[in-house]
Amino acid sequence: MSYLLPQYRSAVIEYEHQLGDVPEIVASGLLQTPRIEPLEWEAASAAGVRVSVLRLDRLHHTISGNKWFKLKFNLLLAKQAGHQCVMSMGGAWSNHLHALAWAGPLFGLKVKAVIRGEELHSQSNALLRDLHELGVGLEFVSRSRYRQYRMQSPLVDGCAVIPEGGDNLEGVLGATTMIPWKTVAEHGVSQVLMALGTGCSLAGACLSAPLGMRLTGVSALKGQWVSAAFSERMQNRVLSQFSPTNWQIDDLHHGGGFARADDCLLSFIHHFADNTGLNLDPVYTGKAMMALLDRVATGDIPAGSHVLFVHSGGLQGNRGFTNSE
Ligand SMILES: *Cc1c(COP(=O)(O)O)cnc(C)c1O
Repeated sequence: MSYLLPQYRSAVIEYEHQLGDVPEIVASGLLQTPRIEPLEWEAASAAGVRVSVLRLDRLHHTISGNKWFKLKFNLLLAKQAGHQCVMSMGGAWSNHLHALAWAGPLFGLKVKAVIRGEELHSQSNALLRDLHELGVGLEFVSRSRYRQYRMQSPLVDGCAVIPEGGDNLEGVLGATTMIPWKTVAEHGVSQVLMALGTGCSLAGACLSAPLGMRLTGVSALKGQWVSAAFSERMQNRVLSQFSPTNWQIDDLHHGGGFARADDCLLSFIHHFADNTGLNLDPVYTGKAMMALLDRVATGDIPAGSHVLFVHSGGLQGNRGFTNSE
C-alpha cells in the first residue's frame, strides 16, 4: 500500500483479521484471493497486447465482486457497533443492493433497502423479487424523496446507513484490498483497466497500487464531471499524504449514459462471450471491455503492454436486459 496513510493501513489489516474471525465469512469463500486468468482474445493478441482478467465475478456464487469489497468493512463495523440492521439505497437493478442482501445476513444483520421509483413493488423485476425473498425490507420512494435519503444521518430507524453504492470511507478502505497486487506483480502487469461508477473502487485501487502502476477507470456515466469529481476525491488527502496521479478516466465509452445500452454494445458483449467464453454486463464491464479494445486499436495501449482487466461482476443485472421483464 504505497499511498495510504499508516493509520489506515493498520486499520485495514486489523479489519481483515476481524473478518477472518467470523466463521460465516470464512465459510462463504469471500476472503479468498480472486483468480487472475489470461484472456485469449485475438483482437488484443494481434496487436501484441496481453490481457489478464481479475475474476471478481467468480469470488462468490452470488455476491458481486467489487461490491463485496466496498461492503465488508461497513458491515463489520455495523456489527461491532451492536446494530441489528443496515440500510442502503439504489435503483431497480442495483448490484450494490443485490450484494448487500446476501452479505448482510453473513454478519447477522437485517437489511433494509430504499428503492428509487415509487411505481415499483416487490414483484416488479427479478432483482426486487430476490431482495424480497431474502427478507430485505423494501421501501419504494419517489425520485425527490430518494435524493433526501441520500443526505441523511448515519442511523435511520436504528439501522446503520450505508450510502448508495457503498461509497464511503470504509468502502474505499475495503476497495484497497480488491486487487491482489502481489499476484499482479508476479504476472508482470503494466496497467489496470476497470469500470467506474461512483469511483470508490478505483480510488481504493489507486491508493493501494504499487509505484509505477497505471490505472484507467472507464466511466459508465456520461459527462466530464466524472473525471473532475474523481480528481477532487484523489486530492482531498483524507486517506493519503499524497494525491496519487496514477490514474486516468476514460469518459468516451459511457455509450450514451448510465445503464444505456445500444445494439452495438449488446452485440459486442454477445460476440465477445462467443469468442472468449467471458460474460460481461452492459452497464459496466461491457463498456469497459469496449474501451480496452478501442484503446488497443488507437495505440493508447501500446504493443508489449500487459493489461489487467478487473471483471467487477454485475452479471445479475443482465436479467434486466433480456426481454423477459
Ligand atoms: C458498481 C459497479 C462498478 C462501479 O464501482 P464504483 O466503485 O461505484 O466505481 C463497476 N462494475 C460493476 C459490475 C459494478 O456493479
